[in-house]
Amino acid sequence: MRFIRTKAVVATAGLALALAACGDAGDDGGEAPEVEVADNAADEFDDGTAMKEFAESGEITIGVKYDQPGIGFKGATDDMPVGFDPEIGKILAADLGIAPEDITWKETISDNREPFLQEGEVDLVIASYSITDERRQVVGQAGPYYVTGQQLLVAADSDIESLEDVAGTEVCSVTGSTSLENIKAEGAKPRGFDTYSECVDQVLSGTVDAMTTDGAILLGYAAENPDELKVVVEPFSEERYGVGYSLDKPEMCEWIVDTLTEAQEEGTWDDAFAATLGQSGVETPEPPAMDECPAA
Ligand code: GLU
Repeated sequence: MRFIRTKAVVATAGLALALAACGDAGDDGGEAPEVEVADNAADEFDDGTAMKEFAESGEITIGVKYDQPGIGFKGATDDMPVGFDPEIGKILAADLGIAPEDITWKETISDNREPFLQEGEVDLVIASYSITDERRQVVGQAGPYYVTGQQLLVAADSDIESLEDVAGTEVCSVTGSTSLENIKAEGAKPRGFDTYSECVDQVLSGTVDAMTTDGAILLGYAAENPDELKVVVEPFSEERYGVGYSLDKPEMCEWIVDTLTEAQEEGTWDDAFAATLGQSGVETPEPPAMDECPAA
C-alpha cells in the first residue's frame, strides 16, 4: 500500500489553451486542476516493477490525442497537450513523482494505439481508448475511468435526427475505432479517416452527411463550432475509456486502478473533468467503478 505523500502542488499548465480550444467555453471556466507530485515515490514501489523504473528514471511517455478538444488537444505551438486524458496522465505521473512538465507526450491516433504499446513507443495510452475484449487480447486496458457513448455530429441545418436517418448516407469516422465498426451496422456508407479532425472537416465542408464517434469527442467539436454543428441522437453504444499499458508489465493495472480510484475519492478526477470536458458542455458524471485487474 502506498501512502499520501508530501504535497508539491503544481497548477496544471495550459488551461487557458484548453479553454481557447473549446471556443466560447472559457469565460466561467473551471478551476485549474492541481496535481500533487509525490516525494520519494521510488521508495513506494517494489523492485522490478515498471512503476519503480519510471519513478527512479523520472521519465514516462504517454500517448494521447492531439486533435480532440476537451479530451486531448495540442496546438502546433503549444508545449503540452490539454484535455481530460492528459489530466489523467498527469495524475498517474504525479504518483510516480513525475511532474507534468517532465512527461514526454506523444500523439497517438486511433489506429496506432495497440502497436505503440506493443512496440514500447509509449508507456501508457490515454486516448479516448475504449476497453474491448479484442483489444484486451493484445494490450492491457485498466479502467474504465470514464464512460461515454457513440452519437452523430451533423451540420446545424441537417435533416438527420435519428439513427434510422443515416441509412444510405455518408458518415465518416476513424480507422481503427469502435465507432467505424458500429456505424457499418446501421446501413450508412462508412468513410474512414486517420483522425477525427479530418472527419469533422468533411462535415463542415458538406462532403459527408455526418460524423460519428463518442459523444464526448463530438461535443468538443460542436463547442468549437456552435453555429455550424450539432450533436444528435441518443448514445447508441457504451464506450468505456481505459488506460492502455503493455501486457509485458501486468503490474501496472493495479497501480493505475488504485491511483485513479484515489483521485476519484479525493475529487481530483472531478476537478480534471470540470476543467476539460466540462468546458465542452458535458456534465461531470459520477466516476465509474473500475474493472478488477486480471489475475497476475
Ligand atoms: N472510443 C472509441 C475507440 O476507442 C472511439 C474514439 C477513438 O477512436 O479514439 O475506438
